[in-house]
Amino acid sequence: MSASKPILISGGGLCSLLLAQSLRRSNIPFRIFERDASFTFRAQGYRLRLSSEGLDAIESVLEPQLWQKFWDKCGKTGGLGFTALDAITGEVTEHAAPENLASRDGKVVGIARGDMRKVFAEGCEEHIEWARHVTGYELTDDGVVATFADGSKSIEGSMLVGGEGIYSKVAKQVSGGRIKVFDTGARGIHGQAPTTAFKGLGEGVFAVRDRSRPDGAVFIITNVRPDQMNDPNVEFGWTMGGQPGVIQVPNDNYSIVGKQAADIAKSLVKNWHPRFKPLFDEMNESEAAFWKITCSSPSGVPEWPNEPRVTVVGDACHSMTPAGGIGANTAVQDSALLGRLIREAGGFKPGVTAAYERDMRVYASKAVHQSYTTAVSSFGVKIDEATSPTV
Ligand SMILES: Cc1cc2nc3c(=O)[nH]c(=O)nc-3n(C[C@H](O)[C@H](O)[C@H](O)COP(=O)(O)OP(=O)(O)OC[C@H]3O[C@@H](n4cnc5c(N)ncnc54)[C@H](O)[C@@H]3O)c2cc1C
Repeated sequence: MSASKPILISGGGLCSLLLAQSLRRSNIPFRIFERDASFTFRAQGYRLRLSSEGLDAIESVLEPQLWQKFWDKCGKTGGLGFTALDAITGEVTEHAAPENLASRDGKVVGIARGDMRKVFAEGCEEHIEWARHVTGYELTDDGVVATFADGSKSIEGSMLVGGEGIYSKVAKQVSGGRIKVFDTGARGIHGQAPTTAFKGLGEGVFAVRDRSRPDGAVFIITNVRPDQMNDPNVEFGWTMGGQPGVIQVPNDNYSIVGKQAADIAKSLVKNWHPRFKPLFDEMNESEAAFWKITCSSPSGVPEWPNEPRVTVVGDACHSMTPAGGIGANTAVQDSALLGRLIREAGGFKPGVTAAYERDMRVYASKAVHQSYTTAVSSFGVKIDEATSPTV
């Protein structure tokens, strides 16, 4: 790699690591600062569904062998859309298969977030600094440094890319507080169980909805892959969501994982049809985790005065609800776009971040809007940009 100042990347999540792959291929030095102590620090369980746009972006960045490895790790499921099931009767509802979810070869393509992250990290490991909690940045005469929660500072970089997710301080600083992430009030739980627990569902992507509760609807989404059904080393996951107020997290503490989260999920499905019971009765309780359903400004990614040396990617810039499953698919487009612009410029150049932000605002604003409007109709969230709480 060349001896110029590195590009600093805050956060070692999906889109930061994919950007790192792009820089690695272009022989441009970089340094990643990740808050967690390692890849396995916290449960990484949930599965991501990949769209055509997401897959194209990933393929455009990865070296051919690494792309092949990534593709081989992806699960490919038949079926063109959700099969919607009524949680109480176990019957298919009238909402069956409203969308085409297939993205390649007529298959629905998905991968566990942890697996995706590991493939994206290959060859970048020595450039990751773990347990580095980024709190912001300082511009220097000829570069930028990241600041850390322990009071220390990073080496000087040519530019800083904030990819540290929904609580990004870099995003707040660079946008002067214009980038906002709203708390929709809706909460979710991730769960996993042995593949055999899913046998009663069949093959495909399933949305199971319980509309019988007086306090609001609860749903799970799960993806059953026949090629892995008989592999005892594999667990399938499900994602549970509830309308605001239905899933209550003790002390609103999202770091709670394991039995407490599993027990709350189990309490919500007590009267569900026996067809779905094994998903909860046979849960791997240690993998259960809460999550908060957030969304950036539904009106779109805001404008802010461009800072040539600092920009933001992924959820840090455009958080989405799980509706539509497009958060990661949009994030990887950021990595591909910014990586390409940096490569074409031969490294940091004034104008690169402005060009990136101009193009990103178009597709990311559309994605946030789509995700928000779907969430309004499917699980009753409502954001008022003037009054709703932010995270
Ligand atoms: C249950 C669930 C299901 C989902 N399903 C889908 C799906 O099917 N399809 C889809 O497209 N999207 C899906 N998403 C959304 C997707 O996971 C996100 O959009 C995607 O992970 C965003 O990637 P990112 O790199 O921007 O952020 P992240 O992957 O969140 O990575 C951020 C990284 O920054 C680190 N970090 C945080 N704060 C700091 C700090 N201060 N300093 C340093 N490091 C820090 C974090 O530890 C993390 O490693 C889902 C999300 C959830 C919660």
